[in-house]
This record gives sequence, structure tokens and C-alpha cells, in this order.
Amino acid sequence: MNMIFERKLAIPMEVKEMYPLTGEMSRTVEKRIAELKSIFAGRDDRFILVIGPCSADHEDSVMEYVLRLGELAEKVKDKLFIVPRIYTNKPRTTGDGYKGMLHQPDPDEKPDMFKGIIAIRKLHMRVLQETGMAAADEMLYPENHKYLDDMLGYVAVGARSVEDQQHRLTASGIEVPVGMKNPTSGDFQVMLNAIQAAQHGHTFIYRGWEARSEGNPYAHAILRGSTNKHGQPQPNYHYEDLIRIKDFYEERELQNPAVVVDVNHANSGKQYIEQIRISKEVLHSRRYNESLRKLVKGLMIESYLVDGNQKVGGGVYGQSITDPCLGWEKTEKLVLEIAEQV
Ligand code: PEP
Ligand code: MN
Repeated sequence: MNMIFERKLAIPMEVKEMYPLTGEMSRTVEKRIAELKSIFAGRDDRFILVIGPCSADHEDSVMEYVLRLGELAEKVKDKLFIVPRIYTNKPRTTGDGYKGMLHQPDPDEKPDMFKGIIAIRKLHMRVLQETGMAAADEMLYPENHKYLDDMLGYVAVGARSVEDQQHRLTASGIEVPVGMKNPTSGDFQVMLNAIQAAQHGHTFIYRGWEARSEGNPYAHAILRGSTNKHGQPQPNYHYEDLIRIKDFYEERELQNPAVVVDVNHANSGKQYIEQIRISKEVLHSRRYNESLRKLVKGLMIESYLVDGNQKVGGGVYGQSITDPCLGWEKTEKLVLEIAEQV
């Protein structure tokens, strides 16, 4: 066989015993999840921001970022519900490149999966403990979800995974709101099929068990733009796009219809500065149309300490080594403006 089984890894239950949450941390997570569910259910009209680096690459700079974000979140808490984006595993278009902290707890060193599992658990725990905010992560590998499931406040299924059965079935057994991104082709029906699948219960194999899920009524859409056959980015955040997803939602009987707009990726064409303009355009569409105000529940923004991005090993503290991000100054200004305009 063309695969070498290097070593058996600790299972999620064992890792949780090694690094358990305190009672207070679990209560914080529960409270944050309940608040977020209220927003998705329309009982709380605060606007959600899932915001942070494209990849959580270094514990020190990510912690500095989230501590600043925590202070900012406090200032805008009446208007905005902030979920820090702590993405510890990264999908790669060709499979090459930095795969995230799970694979490489030190981006400059070789992969070490055991150290990676510990590193991502410790990072999420620190974020929770030091900011009181339960973070978002991407569920790139469904079987790994259990290493973090007691800490996460929000889960996203990425554009390259949203058509995959195991992602959809696992999402149907997740407690927190799960955002399903539109696929890279841009087909809204693929995303809506994923939401429908996740909102229902299923029986399936998960980590060697016959598992039964109850369905996740908070599975919802994330619009991230698409790429056309010429390889050009095609945005899907404009007013007409939002109306189109609203109409599609109305054709299906889904619970808690909701859209989060990812303002980077194929929406900005990775022109990270455009995230500012795109965020404001989405807010304008919401103000213009009451149905959109109800449907569009939040934004996803890629932001870090320093503007732009660099190559792995570039050495700039707090600058992305994956997609380009807004730096802290622009982020702070944007978040305050969103809180005013929402
Ligand atoms: C991301 O959120 O950084 C990401 C890789 O997103 P997508 O799946 O939309 O490409
Ligand atoms: Mn990204």
C-alpha cells in the first residue's frame, strides 16, 4: 500500500482529558452558542462578524490579535456579535503549501500531527479563556471535529468541501451554527443542498461508530464569490445576488434562513482592501430592503495585525502566510463603522 501508518494518534476523548475545559469555560461556550442561535433564529438583531486571520499560523501573533479584538468587541457589543476566526486547518487548491497549524504547529518546520492536535486545542482554549469568545474554525476534516467540538462557537464548511457527503452528514450532528459556503463554481443549489442535508438527521459511520445525527437547524449559507471558466473571480455579494439567494431560500422549506457574506476570497478577488467597500455595500443592501436585513445576518472578514500577506518564512509578525488580510488599524476602523451603519 502506498501509505505508511507512522503512529497511532490519541483520540479526541484522550486529548480532551489531557487538556480539559474548566466548568467556567464550558459555561462561556454554552452562553455564546445560545446567543448566536438567538441571532440566527431572529430573536436578537445583532449583526454577526466572523473575523480574523485567513489562517491561525502562530500562537503569539494570533493571541495578540484576538486580545485586541476582544477589547473592540466589548465596545460594539450592543450592535455586533463578534466571533473570532481561528482557522487551524487550511484547504489548498492544488494540495501544496501550508496546511495550517494542525499539520504544522510551526509553519517553518515539517508536519507533526500529534503536536498539531495539541497546538490547535491549546490555541482555541486560550482564545476562549482570555477573551470569553468561542471561536470559529473550518471543518476541513470531519473526523477531526471532535478534537475541538467542546470549544467552538461557529463552524464553516469550505467551498471545496461543501459538496461532500461526509461533511454534510457531520454538519447535521453539530451543535453550533454551521455555515455552508457556495462552491468555487458558484452554484447556489449545491450550497442549498448542503444546508438541506445538514438540517436533517442521518445515520452514518463516524470515527468507527454507527452514529445518528439529529439535524442542525442553524445550517446556513455563506456567499464567498466564485471563479468562472476563465479563472476570473465572480462576486456574489451584490444586491441582485442577495435577492437571488433570498428567492432560492423561499423555494425550499429550510429552517432559520440566513446568509453570511464572506467579503474576501472570490468576492474581493483577494484584493483585501476591497473588503471595506464590500462590507459597506452589503450593509447598504440590508438597509434598503427589509427582507435582506432579516436574511443577511453577518459578514466574514479576513483580518490580522498587518495588512496583506507574505510567503511562509517571510518573518513579518502578524502578517498572513495564506490569503491577504486587512491589518489591525483598518480592521478597527471598519468594525466601528459597521457598528454605526448596521
Ligand atoms: C477561507 O475561509 O480561508 C477559505 C479557504 O475559504 P473558501 O473555502 O471559501 O475558499
Ligand atoms: Mn482565506
